[in-house]
Amino acid sequence: MQISEIFRSIQGESTRAGLPCIFVRFTGCNLRCTWCDTAYAFHGGTKMKVDEVLQRVEELAAAAPEKSSGAAKAPRAVSLVELTGGEPLLQPEVNPLARKLLDAGYTVMIETSGERPVGDLPRDVIKIIDVKCPDSGEPDTFLLENLGALDGKDEIKFVISSRRDYEFAREFTLRHDLARRVHQAVFSPVHADPEGTWPGMNARDVAEWILADGLPVRLGLQLHKFIWHPATRGV
Ligand code: SF4
Repeated sequence: MQISEIFRSIQGESTRAGLPCIFVRFTGCNLRCTWCDTAYAFHGGTKMKVDEVLQRVEELAAAAPEKSSGAAKAPRAVSLVELTGGEPLLQPEVNPLARKLLDAGYTVMIETSGERPVGDLPRDVIKIIDVKCPDSGEPDTFLLENLGALDGKDEIKFVISSRRDYEFAREFTLRHDLARRVHQAVFSPVHADPEGTWPGMNARDVAEWILADGLPVRLGLQLHKFIWHPATRGV
């Protein structure tokens, strides 16, 4: 499989935001969202076997050497892994990798655009699925049958860049009863591109719209972009 980067950081999104996490970023994506902040993962990367990725994850998950000395094997420092991209579901090896990570005892999440079927993934993988809003430039790409593959541990994310996007996300959330269907619907205001390619969405506006409408959703801010400079890679 083609991998852009594997790194350890703080999970910046979803209901697990703030937890230490290992990220496996797959190379390549078939969409081109106007506000994509990982376009560097569209091309390049390194060819790796499933077991090589697993080994790198194990290295990053290990406790610091001073904590792992002694007879007993130290517990892992990190047990959460996110498969992301690009679009990880474009590469068939994502399924055996997810299976091996689960079997090794990791909690496994996947971030996907929602355009590819998620039903072949092991059931225990926590699916974080984007539903692309109109101003993403990739509307109508969500595969509706994916809703049937989700359950109470999964999350649906809307990246919001305008009032029009918000209204789309609100209608989708209510029409498909996301509050009961998944663990959490997340409304995530677009963070401004540090190079000015796209503007940011005012998080306060989205917060106030959510409150005004009494929506059962979570406001999602990309934590890592507040901790590090928004252009920083590998965090
Ligand atoms: S689906 Fe994700 S990786 Fe692909 S273009 Fe959109 S934001 Fe970027």
